[in-house]
Amino acid sequence: MTALAGGVGGSKLLTGLRHVMHPETGAVVVNTADDEKFYGLHVSPDIDTIIYQMAGIGDEAKGWGIKDDTFNALEMLSRLGLETWFKIGDRDFATHLYRTMRLNEGASLTQVTAELAEKLGVSWRILPMSDDPVKTIVETEIGPLPFQTYFVKYRYSLKVHDIRFQGIEKAKPGKEVITALSSAEYLIIPPSNPVVSIGPILTLPGVRDLLRNSNATILAVSPIIRGHALRGPAAELMKSMGYEPSPVGVADMYHDFLDILVFDTADEEMAKDVKALGVKPLTTRTIMESFEDRVRLAAFCLKAIGYRL
Ligand code: GDP
Ligand code: CA
Repeated sequence: MTALAGGVGGSKLLTGLRHVMHPETGAVVVNTADDEKFYGLHVSPDIDTIIYQMAGIGDEAKGWGIKDDTFNALEMLSRLGLETWFKIGDRDFATHLYRTMRLNEGASLTQVTAELAEKLGVSWRILPMSDDPVKTIVETEIGPLPFQTYFVKYRYSLKVHDIRFQGIEKAKPGKEVITALSSAEYLIIPPSNPVVSIGPILTLPGVRDLLRNSNATILAVSPIIRGHALRGPAAELMKSMGYEPSPVGVADMYHDFLDILVFDTADEEMAKDVKALGVKPLTTRTIMESFEDRVRLAAFCLKAIGYRL
C-alpha cells in the first residue's frame, strides 16, 4: 500500500487506514513543498502532521501540532521581537531542532524523517517526496508569497493568480519514493489539497508517468464537498488553476492515472461527469469527524480497491 498525502486531510484517512490494515504494509509519500525555515530551523509541516497523527500524539482538534503542547518558547521569541504567526509548540520545537541538527550533520531529509518516525513509534514508512528543495510560491494580488506566508500569515484571504513549485524541474523523487510507487499494489490519495499538497508530488519529474504505468488500483478521496473544502484553500486554488471546485474537477486533475474517485453522497449527481472522465465514481459519507468516521471511510476505500482485510 502506498499513499500520497499532504498534512491535515491526508493524516485523517491515514490514521483510519493504519487502524484497519496491518501496520507494516504501508508507505506514505508526503509533500515537502510547504517546508519552511523558521528561526533557522527546518520545518516540514506536512511530514510532522502525518508523523504526529500516526504516532497518536497529534492534536486532533486542530489537526496539526502535538496534543497538549505549550507555547512558552514562541512567547519568548515574540518578546524578543520576532514574528510568531506560524505557531510552533514547545514539544514541536524539539522535532525541528532534531531535524535541523541531523540535516546539518549531513543526513538526508528521507533519513531524518525515518528516524523521527521510528523514534515516535510510527510503523508506516513516511517518505518525503524528495530530498531536493522544492518551494510552493503563490502569486497573489500583493505579489509572490511562500506558501506558509499565504496560508498561515494571510489566512489564504488573498486573490491568487498562479502557483508554481520553485525548484521542481531539478528535484528528483526520493529513491524509496520511486520504489514505493512502482511496487505498489494499491495506491490511495486521501482527501489532500490537489493543488498544493498532491500537486507538487505529481509534478516531480517522472512521478506522473509512474502512476500512469502503475499496475496498482489507484483510488482518491475528494477533499471537496458541495463546492467547498472542509477547511483550507483547496476550492479557491482549484478555481484559480482553472478547475471546477468539485469531485469532477478533482477527477479531471487526476484522470490520466486515477481508477476510482470516492466523493460525498451530497455530490452524488456528479457521478456521470466523473465517469465521463474515465474514472469510476463511488459515493459515501466522506466527512471524518470522529475516529469511527475515519475507520469507516478507510474500510470503504480498501474494499473498493479489492484490498483483503
Ligand atoms: P494540509 O497540507 O494540512 O492543508 O492538508 P491536506 O492537503 O492533506 O488536506 C487539506 C484538505 O483536506 C482540504 O482540502 C480539506 O477539504 C480536506 N479535508 C479535511 N478534512 C476532511 C474530511 O474529513 N473529509 C474530506 N473528504 N476532506 C477533508
Ligand atoms: Ca500542507
